[in-house]
Amino acid sequence: MSCIFCMIVDGAIPSKKAYEDDEILAFHDINPQAPVHILVIPKVHIPSVDGVTAENSAVVARIFEKIPQIAAAAGLANGYRVISNCGPDACQTVPHLHFHILGGRALTEQMA
Ligand code: AMP
Ligand code: ZN
Repeated sequence: MSCIFCMIVDGAIPSKKAYEDDEILAFHDINPQAPVHILVIPKVHIPSVDGVTAENSAVVARIFEKIPQIAAAAGLANGYRVISNCGPDACQTVPHLHFHILGGRALTEQMA
């Protein structure tokens, strides 16, 4: 298996977990770009937003159900940003669908 996030799901690579259930894992980014930087992923391998289909989109809905709880548990009462980079122009570096939760300070208005 070559997908680093699948290896994190399997426990082959350690992570600092923020949330886990049967379908979803959230863990702290190894190179945080804000005081709180958490990645939320489906346990099933989906390469990117481009790989979301009618067959697998339920887990994406579940991720968005859980994001407010994960953010609240991380202390992000004053707001946060959710980002998913898709493809080379967006600088996606890990080809396993993930949503960045960024917060813990006032973020810049610029998104790109
Ligand atoms: P992206 O550039 O949107 O594909 O985001 C990939 C993110 O994964 C980056 O923010 C990396 O810092 C993060 N990352 C890569 N490897 C690990 C790891 N082993 N544990 C936690 N975060 C990681
Ligand atoms: Zn994967």
